[in-house]
Amino acid sequence: MNKFLPYGRHVIDEDDIASVVEVLRSDWLTTGPKVGELEKAVASYCGARHGVAVSSGTAALHAAMHALGIGPGDEVIVPAITFVATANCVVYQGGTPVFADVEPDTLLIDPADVERKITGKTKAIIAVDYAGQPCNYDTLREIANKHGLNLVADACHSLGASYKRRKVGTLADLTVFSFHPVKHITTGEGGMIVTDGEELAARMRRFRNHGIATDHRQREAQRTWRYEMVDLGFNYRISDFQCALGMSQLRKLAGFVERRQEIAFRYNQKLANLDEVKRLLVSENVTHAYHLYVVRLRNNHIRTSMFKELRDRNIGVNVHYVPVYLHPFYRNCFGTGSGQCQVAEEQYSRIISLPIYPALTDEEVARVVEELRLSLTKIGGSENNNEGKSWS
Ligand SMILES: *Cc1c(COP(=O)(O)O)cnc(C)c1O
Repeated sequence: MNKFLPYGRHVIDEDDIASVVEVLRSDWLTTGPKVGELEKAVASYCGARHGVAVSSGTAALHAAMHALGIGPGDEVIVPAITFVATANCVVYQGGTPVFADVEPDTLLIDPADVERKITGKTKAIIAVDYAGQPCNYDTLREIANKHGLNLVADACHSLGASYKRRKVGTLADLTVFSFHPVKHITTGEGGMIVTDGEELAARMRRFRNHGIATDHRQREAQRTWRYEMVDLGFNYRISDFQCALGMSQLRKLAGFVERRQEIAFRYNQKLANLDEVKRLLVSENVTHAYHLYVVRLRNNHIRTSMFKELRDRNIGVNVHYVPVYLHPFYRNCFGTGSGQCQVAEEQYSRIISLPIYPALTDEEVARVVEELRLSLTKIGGSENNNEGKSWS
C-alpha cells in the first residue's frame, strides 16, 4: 500500500531539534529571552510594531478579544466557514458571534453580508484568510471605519501572504497567527498576535500572564517581590524551547511558502482537465500562502463517498470546515440553524481539501490527482448532478 499522505504536516530538521535542545540546557525554559526574540522576529517579518506570543492560536484570538474589550452584549462578526476557534473566542468573553456568509468562489467573508449583519451592538469584525488567501481588506477596512468597528485578521492560514503588496500582519488592527504543526511554521502548540497598537499589545501581554502587570524577569530586574494583578487573565504563556523552535522555523518560512505555492500550481495544472472538480479562485492582487488546497466537486452528492474512497486509497483528504453555526453548541446556545448562510452551506457540501505541505513531493502530488481521477471514475461524477447549482 502506498504511504498515507495527510492533508497537512510539519517539517522538522536537525537544526530545529538542535535549537530546542540548546534552550533545554539553558536557565530559561519559559518567560526567558527566546519569547521576546520570536515576537520581534515575527513582528518585523510582517512589518508590524509589536508581537505577543501565546500558547496557541486560540489563546491569541482570546487575547485579541480581551484587548478590544469585547464583553457581554457585544457582537462580533465572523465568517460562517472557519475553524470553530474564530467564533469561540467571542463566546469566551461573553460576547455573541454573528455569522456572515462567504463568497462562493473564494470562501472568504463577504463584505456585503458583513455590512448587512452590523447592528448597534457590533464591536468588531474577524476576517479569516481562508486557505491562505487574504480577504478583501480595503473593503473591510472601509466598512469598519464607517461603523467604528475594530478589524481583526484571523491569519492562522496566511502567514507569509500579502494583499496589494502589503504583508499579512499589517492589514488589520490585530492579526492572529497559529503555530500548530499543520500551519506554516510550528512551535508544537503556539500562537501570536501582531499589532501596531502599543496599548493593545500591553493588554495582551498582561492577559497571557494572569493579568499581572510585570513578568518574572522584570521583577527580578527591579529587585521586588511585589506584583499587581490589574485584569483577570490566564496562563497563556508559551515556553522558551517552543519559541526557539519557532525562530528556527521562521528562517525557513519563505521556502515553505514557496513550495506550497509550487504544489498549488501543479494541482491547478493537473486538475484543469478534470471537469468534475473546480478549484477556488485567487484574486489578482494577493499572494496566497496555501495553508490548504481546496477543491469543489461538481456533484455535491458524492462528497462523502469521495472522501471515503480517497481515504481508502491513503489520501488524507479532509473537509474545512462545517459552517460553525451548524455545530450543536451554537444551535443550542445561540439558536442558530441551517439556512442562515446559504452560500456557505452550498459550498460546504462540495468542498474537499487535498494534501499540501512543504515535504509533499511532485510524485505525491501526481499520485493525489491520479487517485482523485480514479475515484471519480469509480463513483461516477456527473450522473446525478445537483443541477449544477452555483456551478459555473
Ligand atoms: C488553526 C486555527 C486556529 C487555532 O489555532 P490553534 O493554534 O490550533 O489554537 C484558529 N483559526 C483558524 C482559522 C485556524 O486555522
